[in-house]
Amino acid sequence: METVREALYIDGRWAPPSGDGHIDLISPADGAWAGRVPAGCEADVDRAVAAASRAFEDWSRTSPAERSEWLSRIRAGLKQRGETLAHTITREMGAPIEFSRRVQVGSPLGLLSSFARLVAAFDFESRVGHSRVLREPVGVVAAITPWNYPLRQVIAKVGAALAAGCTVVLKPSELTPGDAFLLADVVEEVGLPAGVFNLVTGTGPVVGEAMARHPGVDMVSFTGSTRAGRRVSELAAATVKRVSLELGGKSAGIVLDGADFDRAVPAVVQACMLNGGQTCSALTRLLVPSSRYALAADLAASAVRSLRLGDPMDAQTDVGPMASHGQQSRVLDYIRRGREAGAKVLAGGDGPPAGVDPAGAFVLPTLMGEVAQDNVIAREEIFGPVLVLIPFHDEADAIRIANDSPYGLSGGVWAADDPAAERVARRLRTGQVAINGGLFNIEAPFGGYKQSGNGREQGLPGIEEFLEYKALQFRQT
Ligand code: NAD
Repeated sequence: METVREALYIDGRWAPPSGDGHIDLISPADGAWAGRVPAGCEADVDRAVAAASRAFEDWSRTSPAERSEWLSRIRAGLKQRGETLAHTITREMGAPIEFSRRVQVGSPLGLLSSFARLVAAFDFESRVGHSRVLREPVGVVAAITPWNYPLRQVIAKVGAALAAGCTVVLKPSELTPGDAFLLADVVEEVGLPAGVFNLVTGTGPVVGEAMARHPGVDMVSFTGSTRAGRRVSELAAATVKRVSLELGGKSAGIVLDGADFDRAVPAVVQACMLNGGQTCSALTRLLVPSSRYALAADLAASAVRSLRLGDPMDAQTDVGPMASHGQQSRVLDYIRRGREAGAKVLAGGDGPPAGVDPAGAFVLPTLMGEVAQDNVIAREEIFGPVLVLIPFHDEADAIRIANDSPYGLSGGVWAADDPAAERVARRLRTGQVAINGGLFNIEAPFGGYKQSGNGREQGLPGIEEFLEYKALQFRQT
């Protein structure tokens, strides 16, 4: 299933790009050509922003009930294309097909239902003494998204921004644009008013930077690396845009002394390896009491070895290839550097995996032990199937190590009971913490502390990101 597109979606129609550049897509499973999309340029961003500005006038005045109805129509169109979306995402970034169906496509559909329901019930006006406080859409939103959960990241922004009454220019990752084109097909099919949603594909330094700089953009909502997020913030500062950042992570899974290790340790392995370790909130540091280190190492190593690496189209596959060959080299490089800095490979490693296509971007699921706190693999986001095992002395030490990170996105705590886990969770400087394996909740706010970002997505806070406050002061009688 190839993505071959010649046009951008601007002002309610398919528009030829201003330049003649294009981006070739490569399937990470076998290195084969997977399609071609336009490489947009600054002039395309100008046209899209102008269309979004024109559309804002009417769209911002639609009722929440109308916008809820539009979101439901878009959801229905995406649902109808569910199988095509799952195959496109698997082809472009290598997620195992069952995971694509269930999470890569299922989660954005869930988000759209949730936004549709929440916006219809949201009170956009309230009374504060002699003032009436209005919530109004911030304006034209530039949405810039990564490749790891391509459609989910798009919908977390586009769905919430449209719900709030904003108009949008979307730039998806240049590695995974296929799902965004399918979304534009749906937008066209349901007849969303022209200019409310615009799609400009291209690279970050060209299209992304043009969006961040553009004086007609009121807000940039960015998900991606901390490095690119910093650059977007710098560029946006010149016009004092609102900038919402969802960045990287290095989250800890803490297994405390009283926890059920047989359950907790494999659960951390699972939460690390999901989507090939390419999840911003992955638990990539396994923290265990030093007295139970050997037991935890055994349990983790056998859980890592039990993962089936393979063809993402095979329903039995747990871990597919990395999303790109560039990501594969980055991850292999981290394993090598981690070893050079004194860590030991307890499972997997940077050797060539057996039984997979050698042209694919595969990396063996890997467990690293004896990882010092200053080892690069204990500190930097690897974004691959690499778990590091770190011992702690006591609860306070576990909290200290977990918080000793420039990131603060997520975490997990396993303990004898929920109150014991919650006590530690409350002391972690991160945006989310799973208590004894508590499941992800698509209506709970998601976002980071520290260098993991400054925004929140999902649920009502996810919609409120795109709203301004306005206070009308009435005369007091
Ligand atoms: P990336 O930063 O390379 O790219 C993300 C997006 O930004 C892409 O669309 C890219 O084209 C664009 N971009 C790149 N350079 C840019 C620039 N100079 N100006 C404007 N736009 C630019 O990230 P990636 O490799 O696609 O994604 C992986 C990263 O995303 C990881 O660090 C991961 O943790 C993070 N992430 C965070 C969350 C979250 O919610 N916190 C979710 C998913 C991914």
